[in-house]
Amino acid sequence: MISDFHTHSYFSGDSSENPEKMVETAIGLGMERFCFTDHQDFDYNYDELDFTLDHERYFAEISDLRERYADKIDVLIGVETGLEPHLSDRLCEFVNKNPYDFVIGSTHLVNGVDPWYPEYFAEHGEKKGFEMYFDYILRSLAVCSDFDVYGHLDYIVRYAPNKDKYFTRSDFAEVIDKILTKLVSMGKGIELNTGGMYKGMNRTNPHPDIVRRYRELGGEMITVGSDAHTADRIGCGFDAAREILKNAGFEYYTVFKNRRPEFIKL
Ligand SMILES: [Zn+2]
Ligand SMILES: [Zn+2]
Repeated sequence: MISDFHTHSYFSGDSSENPEKMVETAIGLGMERFCFTDHQDFDYNYDELDFTLDHERYFAEISDLRERYADKIDVLIGVETGLEPHLSDRLCEFVNKNPYDFVIGSTHLVNGVDPWYPEYFAEHGEKKGFEMYFDYILRSLAVCSDFDVYGHLDYIVRYAPNKDKYFTRSDFAEVIDKILTKLVSMGKGIELNTGGMYKGMNRTNPHPDIVRRYRELGGEMITVGSDAHTADRIGCGFDAAREILKNAGFEYYTVFKNRRPEFIKL
């Protein structure tokens, strides 16, 4: 099975899953590799959740799992960082402090506001809310570069009142092309995130049209991740992901180790 490169354990503020159970699940599914990408979001100013990664404990515990399961699976230590324009130096420092195998850069906040909370779309509406999100990604990419793939592009549609009912790539083609072109020019990949498939949307983030467009614009690096916060979601939707990638013209998907990409035949 395709190796899962986007997962969260109890080292993330929004998960309580035991990492050992996740590794055993990945082995059971026949994955050759499994990458933890627990959250680190600086300046997340909501009291209910804390997305600060305890990286010492994280490295100690996952390294131990890596050793104990080495004959069965390659356990990798990644991180999902929240990108914002003002964080570029802090993110660089954070990422370089530890020997991560893989870094996802994602946009979870738009000008400090989490669109998961209904206030965001109540204030801006869907069209403006989407536009602001894409513009914020571009602003972040202009200054943040210490990541390997850009995470779940277009995932904001998960939280829109009508989900993706009124969202099409063509409505935002110009800004999405700018984002994809920028990522290609930076030598960064994107990920195909299947989390939306079990979060009431029945589609990936980004939308398959955007995956195809990334390929057309010269994009070659794409990882696959379930965004599982519980072991039972690991590898969810990966058969569909394989088809989406093949239909978009990909023959390989990408995995990372020591921040270096490796291309695996689909
Ligand atoms: Zn995320
Ligand atoms: Zn995630």
